[in-house]
Amino acid sequence: MSRTIHLHSGIIILDPSDEIFASSITFCDGAVSAINQGAPEGALSIDLCGQTLAPGFIDSHLHLMLGSSGKGDVDLSCCTNQIAFQQLLLQGLNKVEDDQWLIASGWSEETLGTSPTLEWVDCIQNQPVLCWRTDFHAAILNTAALQLLDLPSIRNVVGGNDCMRGIVKETALWEHVSPRIPIPSPTQIRNRLKKLAKSLHADGITLVGAMETLEDVEGYLFPLKESLQVRMRMMVFDEPTKENIIRCNQFTDDPLLRVTGIKTFIDGTLGSRTAKMYVPYCDANSSGLFVSHALHDDLDDWIEAVVQGGFAPVVHAIGDEAVGLSLKLLHRISSQCIARIEHAQFIDERDSKFLPGQWFGVQPLHKESDDAIAVQAVGPKRARRLHDWRAMLDAGANLSFGSDWPIAPHQPIDAMSIAIKSGLSSKEALVATTVDAAKSLREPKAGILRIGSFADATVLSCNPFECDWDVETPRVTMTIVGGVIQFNEEQTNA
Ligand SMILES: [Zn+2]
Repeated sequence: MSRTIHLHSGIIILDPSDEIFASSITFCDGAVSAINQGAPEGALSIDLCGQTLAPGFIDSHLHLMLGSSGKGDVDLSCCTNQIAFQQLLLQGLNKVEDDQWLIASGWSEETLGTSPTLEWVDCIQNQPVLCWRTDFHAAILNTAALQLLDLPSIRNVVGGNDCMRGIVKETALWEHVSPRIPIPSPTQIRNRLKKLAKSLHADGITLVGAMETLEDVEGYLFPLKESLQVRMRMMVFDEPTKENIIRCNQFTDDPLLRVTGIKTFIDGTLGSRTAKMYVPYCDANSSGLFVSHALHDDLDDWIEAVVQGGFAPVVHAIGDEAVGLSLKLLHRISSQCIARIEHAQFIDERDSKFLPGQWFGVQPLHKESDDAIAVQAVGPKRARRLHDWRAMLDAGANLSFGSDWPIAPHQPIDAMSIAIKSGLSSKEALVATTVDAAKSLREPKAGILRIGSFADATVLSCNPFECDWDVETPRVTMTIVGGVIQFNEEQTNA
């Protein structure tokens, strides 16, 4: 149970969609207990000093297990020199069991001012070490790791010519080194998830929509929910069989973790030219691929089984033909289901009639990399329709923002900033990060602050409705989940 906290002397956004504000708010026992009242006796009083408190941010699409295992145990992104780099590796070693590799990530020549060398990582000698470059296309390994690899053959593979010096890239890295990394131990996975929860809090995130397997929900995420203190709404990858629906139903009433949807993929991605388009790509002899239930022509049955089970159908569809197929089928089911289409990067004119009321999980932080290849891939006309959130909202669609982390960083402020630069208002961007993100995850107690809703809040350095996003973006200064402060910039900097 949390103590009572009373926050005052700032701008408090209760409902971003209606722009309803308050001057003070009280959190008690994990819920909003009073609005615009004085501080109750014994409450912890927090002076917001003119800052803005918003409903807790929501990242409606990320991959907790995939991301936390890929990034490893040590974050090197803030290292600017060899000493700091080695210190973090040595500290990280404490958390790794003897039969495991120490995995780090996040370094770049830009932040280090130079490339790390074998000598740097050989500060650890008894245990294999692998440090991913920030883009995961290169890594530096220590001698203990190199000794476990077949270096003579790696040398002849693309990206392997420098392997004797500890540097491995691309194919050599993915196909010859990555498979040699031992599967992380349960303790290592738990430690990584706890570290991830802290970095989500630092970005203002209080609730996530996570794409996971039921096995990981049962084995890791549900048992860890109290220590993570990030609310999780799961969209599980498992098929909606009778048995799996029973497993999902075990997780429907816990405020920290609930299964709310079941997810399937029906096409690929733009980058690999596998997103299914009505018309072939300009630079590939193909219009992309339907996969899974779209390929087997039983998407309708899948949707029916998910809805019958009481869950939301969540469909990954990127190309316009894949989105069109999803829209046609989802259009027939009740809007109460809150069926979601994830990504929906291209929507053809012919399908816009299906947009009113439809939920989309979209990722503003994918825009830059997709824009860079769009004209080449689909030509200028279709490229203009890529990530057209303005048109989607104008047609009556509902948007919920997510990051797709670890594919893109879990930074809601940056996502909002890109959305605003792409023609959304600051209100629309905040709504897609709070109120509508919560609705899209079937969570009536989040995304909004009213009596009885979750005491989840994100405090910002300036008012997102009023600041000039071109000049100054708000900064997250405090994150509260269930009435407990999980991140406080002042304490972090102290
Ligand atoms: Zn994803």
